[in-house]
Amino acid sequence: MKKIDMLEIDDCKLFDDIINAKNALNIHKDEVKSQYKHYQDNFASLEKVKADQNLETIKDELINCYENPTNPFKFAKNTLWDKFKEQRDDDKCPYCMIENARELDHYFSKTNYPEYSVFIPNPMPCCSICNREKGDRIIKNNQRQYINFYHDNIPDYQFLFVEFTWASDGIPESKVYLMFPKTDTSEIKNTNANAHRSIRLWIFCLSIGQLKCR
Ligand SMILES: [Zn+2]
Repeated sequence: MKKIDMLEIDDCKLFDDIINAKNALNIHKDEVKSQYKHYQDNFASLEKVKADQNLETIKDELINCYENPTNPFKFAKNTLWDKFKEQRDDDKCPYCMIENARELDHYFSKTNYPEYSVFIPNPMPCCSICNREKGDRIIKNNQRQYINFYHDNIPDYQFLFVEFTWASDGIPESKVYLMFPKTDTSEIKNTNANAHRSIRLWIFCLSIGQLKCR
């Protein structure tokens, strides 16, 4: 046994700080709810969703609601997973359909949109590779860079094609492209740029999967 040094800290101040952090959330709760409404109002065009810069002051507290969840959020998260597993025959990641979904990816990142940290339409099941590789920058040139699997309609026919060719030095090259029938009216067709980074994510996972098989 060995004695250890106790941390010397002003415990009353610490308790005040803890309460103040919780109060900060309480003070700004209407702004957060207004951001929830902003998201719902723009559900059909998520590229219009903008973060509320005023909430930057309570960013850590908002993210902490996710990182250190209270029981109501734990329950909501468990229900989200139950529903995900219920509606699928497998639990494959919706981005790559290769790895199993074991994590929640914040479509709008916690860093850039902390108000959506515990907003249930935002975190979606995915695999650890896609979660790690997906960038924080969702919107570029007013266009979304990733498919939103709650919102975007994904065609149920093949629209993604890969062509392999062999260069003269024998090294294989691949070309990935999207092709839609003229009659297709789904959003994904009209927003190819949106799909683009999702497709790259898929290719990345595919390459990792191939490496694993070797
Ligand atoms: Zn994945």
